[in-house]
Amino acid sequence: MERGVNESVGPARRLRVAIIGAGPSGSTLAILLAREGAAVTLVDDGRRPELLVGESLVPAVVPILRRLDLEKETASFSRIKPGVSFIWSSTDRVSVTFDRFAPAVFPYAYNVPRPQFDDTLLAKAIASGVDYVTARAQLVPNPAAGTGAELQLGPETVAAAPGLGGQPPDLVVDATGRARLAARALGIPPRLGPRKDVAHFAHFEGVSWDETPGQVRIARGEAGWSWCIPLQERLSIGIVLGQDDAARLGRTPEERLERAIAIDPGLTSIVGRGRRVTDVATYANYQLISERGYGPGWVMIGDAFGFVDPMLSPGVFLALRSSEQLADALTPWLRRRAIPSPAELHSVLSSYAATQSEMLTAWLELVAYLYDGRLAALIQAGRSWMPENPGFAKRAIQTHIARHVGLLASGAATTSRYSRGLLRFLGRYGLRGIDPAELAIR
Ligand SMILES: Cc1cc2nc3c(=O)[nH]c(=O)nc-3n(C[C@H](O)[C@H](O)[C@H](O)COP(=O)(O)OP(=O)(O)OC[C@H]3O[C@@H](n4cnc5c(N)ncnc54)[C@H](O)[C@@H]3O)c2cc1C
Repeated sequence: MERGVNESVGPARRLRVAIIGAGPSGSTLAILLAREGAAVTLVDDGRRPELLVGESLVPAVVPILRRLDLEKETASFSRIKPGVSFIWSSTDRVSVTFDRFAPAVFPYAYNVPRPQFDDTLLAKAIASGVDYVTARAQLVPNPAAGTGAELQLGPETVAAAPGLGGQPPDLVVDATGRARLAARALGIPPRLGPRKDVAHFAHFEGVSWDETPGQVRIARGEAGWSWCIPLQERLSIGIVLGQDDAARLGRTPEERLERAIAIDPGLTSIVGRGRRVTDVATYANYQLISERGYGPGWVMIGDAFGFVDPMLSPGVFLALRSSEQLADALTPWLRRRAIPSPAELHSVLSSYAATQSEMLTAWLELVAYLYDGRLAALIQAGRSWMPENPGFAKRAIQTHIARHVGLLASGAATTSRYSRGLLRFLGRYGLRGIDPAELAIR
């Protein structure tokens, strides 16, 4: 018979959790666990660059910010994002505003300067009683893994975090983003998606902006695609394209971004007489989901678990949501001041990991519709199907479809079986002869 939670560890005590990485996922989990009484140590290497990707959020982030009591503060340095415009060519575009899908979808999101956003989350974690340590953490396989935790903190990490009292924590959380510390320590392979792009981006001032204020602009380019994300005083402009196509644009990231703007009439007119006010940052942009997201005594959250693709901006949402899910799953023990037994912890972590894996898979499936042209083809097909004065039935069908695409792409219900099934059905039978390949992103 399973031992009772308190019997497994003796008298009641606080759950001790070590979180490695203070990006959005790590700090959010730290806040939520500390609020429920866990003893949390948060370790970050403090190597944050001047520019960070992850500036455009989806509406489903806002309820989480409210739960963290951080919406007001976030709003003070961010820009309201009313929606997104997708531009396939100079004559083919669609602009979506989230309020169209309310109340099922939160009616707005934010565009955030990421360093400030991360600082805000971290400050809240510290204010919630989290023990914050700046150190480059190490995770190593536990030689006695068969009898306990599979991973342990390296001795230097334990020494750098006196709050741990030299004791191994009950749970180690890998929130190191694409460093994937736990996966590397244990040799856990990733399941890779089809895109292997590179992204270059920078901030600009003095640009000319004809779109709705705050509206994110995603545009298909000759190769790859570009983003324009309006921040409070600046515009973030990025390009995402294959390695070879990037190399053809120029040698350095600066040359490539400059050239990409010069050959794209839409970007050229936006930048106008504006000027670049930061260096050009470079990110590898691939898609991956970890084959395994947890093990005895440890778990992955955020990008460490999986990274989808930035075109629909789900990264920060997936990071925050993974933290929320894990914290909620642990809360019953925290409220009872009880420590889950290894079997109970295994059960919590495995159901969390299954949910997170499903979310990542659903987003990967959704973003594929944009890359291979099916979503653009469906929109064209929908337009050709609608007469100038559509009757009630056609209007209702169109609203129904748009609503379900909105639910998927806003994060409100990306795993919904019905919405995904509808999109699959339409992608197969609803294209009315339009060839998606013509609208694909190279
Ligand atoms: C090109 C591109 C564009 C993107 N655009 C968007 C977007 O518009 N919207 C969006 O929502 N998402 C976007 N993303 C994704 C988004 O940036 C990530 O999903 C998000 O940052 C994940 O947060 P995280 O907390 O999991 O990881 P991270 O933000 O990567 O945080 C990890 C933290 O761990 C620390 N760390 C790493 N190793 C160690 C170690 N050994 N010891 C201690 N600390 C360590 C790091 O310094 C960092 O602070 C984009 C990604 C790319 C590549």
